[in-house]
Amino acid sequence: MRYSALRVLKEGLTGNKGWKPAWRDPEPQKNYDFIIVGGGGHGLATAYYLAKTFGQSKIAVLEKGWIGGGNVGRNTTIIRSNYMLPENQPFYEFSMQLWEGLEQEFNYNAMVSQRGILNLFHSDNQRDAFIRRGNAMIMSGADAVLLDQDGVRGMYPFLDFDNARFPIKGGLVQPRGGTVRHDAVAWGYARGADRNGVDILQNCEVTGFQISDGVCTGVETSRGPIGAKKVAVCVAGSSSRVMAKADMRLPIESHVLQAFVSEGLKPVLSGVVTFGAGHFYVSQSDKGGLVFGGDIDGYNSYAQRGNLPVVEDVCEGGMALMPMIGRARLLRMWGGIMDMSLDGSPFIDKTHIGGLYFNGGWCYGGFKATPASGYCYAHLLATGEPHEVATSFRLDRFLNGHMIDEKGQGAQANLH
Ligand SMILES: Cc1cc2nc3c(=O)[nH]c(=O)nc-3n(C[C@H](O)[C@H](O)[C@H](O)COP(=O)(O)OP(=O)(O)OC[C@H]3O[C@@H](n4cnc5c(N)ncnc54)[C@H](O)[C@@H]3O)c2cc1C
Repeated sequence: MRYSALRVLKEGLTGNKGWKPAWRDPEPQKNYDFIIVGGGGHGLATAYYLAKTFGQSKIAVLEKGWIGGGNVGRNTTIIRSNYMLPENQPFYEFSMQLWEGLEQEFNYNAMVSQRGILNLFHSDNQRDAFIRRGNAMIMSGADAVLLDQDGVRGMYPFLDFDNARFPIKGGLVQPRGGTVRHDAVAWGYARGADRNGVDILQNCEVTGFQISDGVCTGVETSRGPIGAKKVAVCVAGSSSRVMAKADMRLPIESHVLQAFVSEGLKPVLSGVVTFGAGHFYVSQSDKGGLVFGGDIDGYNSYAQRGNLPVVEDVCEGGMALMPMIGRARLLRMWGGIMDMSLDGSPFIDKTHIGGLYFNGGWCYGGFKATPASGYCYAHLLATGEPHEVATSFRLDRFLNGHMIDEKGQGAQANLH
């Protein structure tokens, strides 16, 4: 079924009886050409591009819970391509370009809203670093605009400019950055993949890998064994646990990241704003809630809920940036598990086991990467070669010293 304004009108006039499920609920087959483990944004996007763009068939996505129940439905919805390093920036800009045509391509309203993202700076050194970043962005085809204090004041006059402990000196804007409705991305890719023949198997947990003579030939699941020519793991916060079933140890730590939503307010924030003197970022949803977050909780965990010290830290950041936020009531908060790689950059790679592939290590930033990650993973699976914008996301980079330390912070998960 194709969605259109005409279809909405017709269904509205005929009692909404013609809508069909957005994707099928098939029984697992015995064998597939490709098994994607993990029905998050990245897994579903991989299946979609594998079928649609790379013309492959016999594909299944195996999801232990339900579509959209992982981080793809838990993040704070921000998209941007404001990276600096040449290994990262072209990849994230490619992702941004895919976001720009996505809704038309998969015929689903994902509420892609390029409302702009503003990164504030609070010192001369920080301004110099942002100028450098802005130039790197422009050189890769992205957009970047440097604002002085008056420029920021023109956009958001209510920020605490002068009296704060960290005076705002200006900001770097990416006008094409913005937000996308997170769970709609999962549903849109799921529907698009299903329309291209992909089997989406929910409540199907992968419990082991069938590996013989160094080659992976399938998986064990809670719904029985399933054979495959290629198995592509894509399980975000569960990366270490799942790859441990193939006896692999990853350069990844799992941490909780929390998100917060205030009660609905009248429109106050047109875009996304990030505080540069702490970790706090905020935008306003279409329903009016302020959506904000900050640092990961400071220890490793698989619990999808957060702890009070980080709530306090995030709220302090919010108060330092826009004191009026103290008058808003918190409506809800939740946590998701981040797969923090130790240089802050992701992996899209083959493993040393034949037929077994790995995609993960997205840290805080995997939502914005969803389209490019899916596209590049599908490219690797279909052609055996990495896509040109994802050649550096290798699993062996910690062995050979080719780390991609975007922030220059060293191997410490909570600093990326
Ligand atoms: C609070 C929060 C805020 C964030 N904010 C942003 C942001 O603003 N911008 C941004 O770019 N990124 C953000 N992120 C990061 C982003 O959400 C993640 O990097 C990204 O969603 C991870 O990829 P995914 O969508 O495929 O993950 P998921 O949706 O988590 O998908 C992985 C799936 O694998 C499944 N799975 C796990 N184990 C198994 C198994 N054994 N068998 C089968 N299935 C399995 C899980 O159930 C899950 O559905 C945020 C994350 C959080 C938690």
